[in-house]
This record gives sequence, C-alpha cells and structure tokens, in this order.
Amino acid sequence: MSNSIDPHAKPLPSLSAHHIDPHSYPDGVAFLDGQYLPMSQAKISVLDWGFLHSDATYDTVHVWGGRFFRLDLHLDRFFGGLEKLRMTMPFDRDGVAEILENCVALSGHRAAYVEMLCTRGTSPTFSRDPRDAVNRFMAFAVPFGSVANAEQLQRGLHVAISDKVRIPPASIDPAIKNYHWLDLVRGLYDAYDRGAETALLLDFNGNVAEGPGFNVFCVDDGKLSTPAAGVLPGITRRTVFDLCAEAGLAVAAADVSVAALRRSDEVFITSTAGGIMPVTMIDGIPVADGKVGAITKRLIAIYWQKHEDPVWSSPVRYLRPGK
Ligand code: PLP
Repeated sequence: MSNSIDPHAKPLPSLSAHHIDPHSYPDGVAFLDGQYLPMSQAKISVLDWGFLHSDATYDTVHVWGGRFFRLDLHLDRFFGGLEKLRMTMPFDRDGVAEILENCVALSGHRAAYVEMLCTRGTSPTFSRDPRDAVNRFMAFAVPFGSVANAEQLQRGLHVAISDKVRIPPASIDPAIKNYHWLDLVRGLYDAYDRGAETALLLDFNGNVAEGPGFNVFCVDDGKLSTPAAGVLPGITRRTVFDLCAEAGLAVAAADVSVAALRRSDEVFITSTAGGIMPVTMIDGIPVADGKVGAITKRLIAIYWQKHEDPVWSSPVRYLRPGK
C-alpha cells in the first residue's frame, strides 16, 4: 500500500523529547500535557484519581496498513463515556482525532494500537470532591498488539470459564469503557491455573459475559449470537453485526448460557486488539471438531479486507515512510 502523504497537510508537531532511546519499550509516541513524548517519558502523578480510584475512561482504536479502522465509532464511545462520567477536557472530537493522528504519524507505525484516555486528574486543593479535580487527557500510539498470538490465531484459543462474575452493569455502566479489571485479571489467573490461555467471565445470572479485553460470539446452526447485556458494546462486536448484515448471516444479541456456548459449532472472540479470533477449546473440551470454523474464517477474511475500504477506514497522514 502506498504511503499516504498529503502535501497540503499542516506540518506535524515535533517530539519534544531530545533523547529518544531506541531500546525503550514500547516504541511509541504519547501526547500528555500539550506535548508529544516518547512513550518511556509519558508519566502521570501517583495522586491522579485515574490511578488511585480507577476513575478514568478510555478508548482504543487500531491502525492497520496505515489506516485508522472505524475511528468515528471509537470517538463516539469515548465522548459518550466522558459525558457519563461528567469529565471535561480542552479538546473536541476533531482535536482528539488530530492528536491521535499526530501520535501515529510521529511514531511512524503503520500497524498501531492507539489509545485516548481521560482521568479524573487531581484536585489542586486535595479536596475529596471529584468536581474539584482537573481532568486529564492523554493519548498514545504503540505497536499493534493482539489478544491472541500467531499460533493461537491459527489453531484457535483455549479458554476457561471463570467462576468470577463480571462487574454488573447496575454497578458500572459497561458502555463507559473503563479500567475496572480486577475481575478480569483474577479470571485470567483462573484460566492459567487450569492450563487455558484466556478466560470468559459470567454475568450475575450465570450467563456468559465477556473476557479480558474482548466480547464473545457463538455460532449455532449458521446463526450467530453474542451476550446482550453486561458487556462493553465493542466496536469489533458491532463490526461483526455489520459484516453479518452484508454477508446475509443471522446474528442476535441475546442471553448465551454456558451450555449453549459449549455445544456451539463455532466460537470466536472480538477485540480491537486482534480483530476476530477463533476459540477452539473451552475448559479442555474441543468446540465441535476442535478446528477453526468456516463462518469464523469467512468473517476474519472480510473483517481484514474492510481495513482497506475508505468507507470503513481513513488514512493516516505520515511525514515519512512508516515502519
Ligand atoms: N470487552 C472489554 C472488557 C474490553 O476491554 C474490550 C476492549 O478493550 C472489548 C470488550 C472489545 O471491544 P472493542 O471491540 O471495541 O475493542
């Protein structure tokens, strides 16, 4: 794919750090307090309530082949979360989009994981009243990462169903993308203890909810379903609905019981970090014949094709050849 350089674009800001350590990990660029910095120098106060109270919201969009994928939907979700948490920041949608693009362009990555986040920040008077805090916006672009590694993408992930219950929507609205991950992290340890690679958590009624950083789908007799409630309305999940509409496949958001998941013909998970990823083993038992299913394969193929489609993706304006 050609490098998308717009000769009329306004010049990019420069990186304000002078010493960029090529070995610092991860290799990327952050925006913090009005400056673009190497990732290794992007630091916040330990007093920030984003850190102390997990009082923050964020969103992650990816860049693939030098193009943002469905950036508008990620911005919608991010700004929706800000509003619900009553956070304010000095950038509007266009301002955030420009900062994200600058982070990617300065990093040079053509396959990137791009995060925008806003924390409650700190109160200048150390008051305990969140209304006194000065909210803090940050963004960064680092190399693309995936929930599943290359081998797992090929043969399908092995998951375990955790007995940890996903934080209920009556406590935290899951549409506010958040860092309340202790249930998910404990679920991961359950999975590792049982020899699995990742976890699925249940909702309060014992139905399947979601996993650490992903939604889940099952396919039964050619029809797809995904948990309706108590989960982040994932952009990749939404994309599966859009792809199914185009491909003439039936898909529904509904309760998914553990028994229904186990007897499915196919199971896959969805995330900006990796796209559509097959699951072929649940609690040590193969899903159907234990091979990646035909519908999963078909959706994976069209999902990645859409990354080149200008209706679904938009180019990053790089200044120099990306890496
Ligand atoms: N569920 C949770 C808890 C997540 O954190 C994520 C992504 O980080 C997802 C689902 C998948 O959402 P998306 O497809 O928008 O990346």
